[in-house]
This record gives sequence, C-alpha cells and structure tokens, in this order.
Amino acid sequence: MQQILHSINDFNEAKQVIPGGVNSPVRAFGSVGGTPRFIKEGKGAYLIDEDGNSYVDFVQSYGPLILGHSHEIVVREIVKAVHKGLSYGAPTELETSLAKEIISVCEGVEKIRLVNSGTEATMSAIRLARAFSGKDDIIKFEGCYHGHSDSLLVKGGSGLATFGETSSKGVIADITKHTLVAKYNSLDSVRECLRLSKNVGAIIVEPIAGNMGLVPATKDFLQGLRELCDKENIVLILDEVMSGFRASFKGSYPFYGVQGDLCTLGKVIGGGMPLAAFGGRSDIMDMLSPVGGVYQAGTLSGNPIAVTAGLATLGVIKQDLNLYTHLENLANRFVNGFQEIAMQYHIALQTSVRGSMIGFFFAQDSVYDWDSAAKADTQFYSIFHAKMLEKGVNFAPSQFETSFLCAPFNNDIIDSVLVKIEESFKEIKAGQ
Ligand SMILES: *Cc1c(COP(=O)(O)O)cnc(C)c1O
Repeated sequence: MQQILHSINDFNEAKQVIPGGVNSPVRAFGSVGGTPRFIKEGKGAYLIDEDGNSYVDFVQSYGPLILGHSHEIVVREIVKAVHKGLSYGAPTELETSLAKEIISVCEGVEKIRLVNSGTEATMSAIRLARAFSGKDDIIKFEGCYHGHSDSLLVKGGSGLATFGETSSKGVIADITKHTLVAKYNSLDSVRECLRLSKNVGAIIVEPIAGNMGLVPATKDFLQGLRELCDKENIVLILDEVMSGFRASFKGSYPFYGVQGDLCTLGKVIGGGMPLAAFGGRSDIMDMLSPVGGVYQAGTLSGNPIAVTAGLATLGVIKQDLNLYTHLENLANRFVNGFQEIAMQYHIALQTSVRGSMIGFFFAQDSVYDWDSAAKADTQFYSIFHAKMLEKGVNFAPSQFETSFLCAPFNNDIIDSVLVKIEESFKEIKAGQ
C-alpha cells in the first residue's frame, strides 16, 4: 500500500489557511475524490510527493513543462538571472528578445505584450478587440476555458446559442449579458449568435480545445469562423495559451492554416514561470496604452526571471524541432495501447492526439463539443484516476483535462504506464 500520510496531514493543515487547501480549485481533487498529493519535487517526467512516492506525470503543471520538470538548462539560466535582480519595473533587452522569438514563430503575430497569466492575456485581448471593433458583445464557446475574468465566466444553455448566464457567484449579469455562448464545432450555432446580436465585436476560441478534455476543432469550423469574422468585421481571438508551442511548434496553425487577428499565449512560453502574452495585428495592438487609448499594465509583466525561463525553454525547443514528432509518436503509442486494453476489457474509450497533447474520454460516442464530452463516465474516471495514482501515475484529477507529455518521456515509460492501465482495468472489473 502506498503511504500518503504526509499529504493527508499537509492537506488538512492547508485547509485551515487556504480555501479548500489549494490555490486553484481543480487541485483539490473535488471531482475525483481522494487526497491531493503534496509535491516535494519534480524531475523530468516524474513528480515526487512529500511521502517519497514517485509518479509518472501526465499533468506537467497543466501544460507549461514541455521539457519536463526542472530541466537543467532552464534551471541554470533562471539561477543566473536571479543573481541580477528579480524585477526592475523598467524595460529589458530580454523582453524584446522573447517578443521577437514569438513573433518569428506565430503566424499573424506582429506585435506582442507580455503579461503574467493566461487570464490576463485573454482579458486584455477582449478589451482590445472591443475597442478596435467598437462593438460590445463577444462570442465564446461552451467547454472552452479562457481564464477567470468576469466576462468569460458564463455557461451555455440547451439552445444552439444563448446569452451567457454567469457561471460564478459574484460575476454580475450586466457584464455577462454581453457574452454569447455558442456550441464548439458548430458554425450554425455561431450564425444563430450573430442573428441574436448585431453587436458582436469579438469571437474567442481555443482552436484546439484542451479544457473540456482534448477536443480539437474541425478544419471547416475554424476556417468558417475566420470567414464569418472577416465578413462581419469581428476580431477573431485564437486562445492558444495551451496549444501554443504544444500542439506543434507553431501551435494550431499547421493543423488549420488559420490566423487570428489576436492570439493569446501562456503556459509553454513561460517554461513553468508565470508568463503569458497576447499579440496580433499591429493596427490592433497599437491601440494599447501608451500608444493608444486601451489601458493595460502590470507591475511584474515581463519580469526578467519569467522571461529568462521562457527564452531558455524556447531556445532548447528550437535546437531540435523533432521534439514534436517524438512526442506525437509517443502520444500515439499511448492511445493505441490504451485503446487495445480498453477493447479487451469492454470499456468505451475515445482518444485524440495533437502533438504532445493527449485526450481520452470514457465515452461511447465521439466527442466534438461540450455536450458530447459531458456524456463521459466521470464516475469511472474517478475510480481509474485513484487506481493509477496508487500505482504511481499522475493523470489530472478530472475527466475534462488534457494529458501532456514532455521531452523525457520514452517508450519504456509509456509501456510501463500501459501495464498499469491494464492492471487497473483488471482490478476494477474484478470489483477490487
Ligand atoms: C490555462 C488557460 C488559460 C488561463 O491561463 P492562466 O495562466 O491559468 O490564467 C486561458 N486559456 C486557455 C486556453 C488555457 O488553457
């Protein structure tokens, strides 16, 4: 039996001083049950908890760590930077370097501004899009997540299109009434939104949705969105906070050939430090203060430590772009093996892969939007999650998250995880 006494004690103690014991809700294991492991250390593909248990980590901090935990070069560069000061409140050459790096890779990004979190990036992009279009309403898609700013905390209804109802207490309806909610992968639903409102200034979408589990957009859908936005003078915001430098070096672009007018990035570009960005067409970006009238700011924005981590991460990635093929091959090896085992045990399983991103749902039918994702068997996922954790494999504590690979993964690790999946299914079927 795995010992998790330290985690249990740590969790109890944390709950005394931190709501729910965590600084971001999913970490509390609310949707799967059990005790979150308190982490002492991360190394490569592995996490080590306070009881000394080690786990193959498919979470990788929910995406940022494409090089794995405590990558030698990234850590070395950060340590060097720390000795020169933590933050200056003045511009640095580092920031220009990172901006140039990102612009050279991301299609359609001509100017960029660095912020501290994906939430800030999407919030700022929406403010900018509203200013540019002169229209107040926005469309978002059910199941997509863009951080927790007020106008994005909405839920959809049963209809094809709805004006968003707030999905969080404390968010006022006067704000969310400007957010329309459409169905992912449905252009009809977007057209219905455009019938309901003549005042839509922006559409924000995850081109490869990763926050309802992994649900990639279809090519027709994304290209259709681009056409609708062009026709109706709507700013298209591609939220690539997760997929940027993850699904491929160029994010979603190679899969769809679609550019946003604005794009948001985060996660990988900070290499595990708090760093995100929004960027896009110069004519839109130049509406930002101090050039234009759209206010946006940040005390620690572009701080030298986070920017150094980002530059080091992108630098290592660029040395060998085969990384993405390597990880995609491993991801396919994983889902193919997983499918075989599931078939053997008569367990319905839907899988998908985009580069180093893996999606799997315990569902009968294919998953293409939130309604179809929500049919997945979350109870089975909870049992599976607990079994795997006990056996030293860390999947996200929710059916509706993406799994991530990182550079140190290899065939042996994948195969060892597949063996544990089979053991888990066997035990579950035996009622153990
Ligand atoms: C993670 C994520 C965000 C929010 O980023 P934070 O840094 O957690 O605020 C926004 N959009 C997408 C697509 C994300 O995956």
